[in-house]
Amino acid sequence: MNINPIDLAKETEICKNCKNIVIGKGNENADILFVGEAPGRNEDEQGIPFVGAAGRNLDNLLEKVGLNLENIYIVNILKCRPPENRNPLSEEIRAHTPWLLKQIQDINPKVVCSLGNYATKFFLSKGDVEKMKEQPGITQIHGKIQDIEIKGVKIKLIPLFHPAAIIYRRQLIDDWEKDMEIVKEIVKNHI
Ligand code: URA
Repeated sequence: MNINPIDLAKETEICKNCKNIVIGKGNENADILFVGEAPGRNEDEQGIPFVGAAGRNLDNLLEKVGLNLENIYIVNILKCRPPENRNPLSEEIRAHTPWLLKQIQDINPKVVCSLGNYATKFFLSKGDVEKMKEQPGITQIHGKIQDIEIKGVKIKLIPLFHPAAIIYRRQLIDDWEKDMEIVKEIVKNHI
């Protein structure tokens, strides 16, 4: 029997206990998809991804390179807030990412910018949650373009630091800006 990916996610405790399910924001026809980790408190309150401090940071960083919600779409690995913003559990990633994979098939992006370790490892393991632990961390792999096929969609994966991780960390902001030059280059040449 084929289980609907949305119903599968809704069966998890975090979905039963959250205020709002956070699906995504931006342009669903965009060629660039940003993928974060999970909603935080503000996102849970509003039902919109990246509206808190990390979101403001992301907006500023995107503005510097001419990207905004008209030319990108933003989603998360988990669609519901884990209690106290704890890290996603493997079973939650397994239950929520079929929904993410459906979004990827619908949006059909050319470029995916994975924000932080969880999103990056999910794509590097091509959606196989069991293989996520074997993948290199974001410090090692940020800014290194990977050609990946996931659920039949060919993407250029550009791993980036999570915007929450770089707040007030000058060295990481410099690294992010260098990585975004790569995103800009790819957008210019492939989109
Ligand atoms: N951090 C994320 O990864 N996603 C959000 O939506 C907000 C903060």
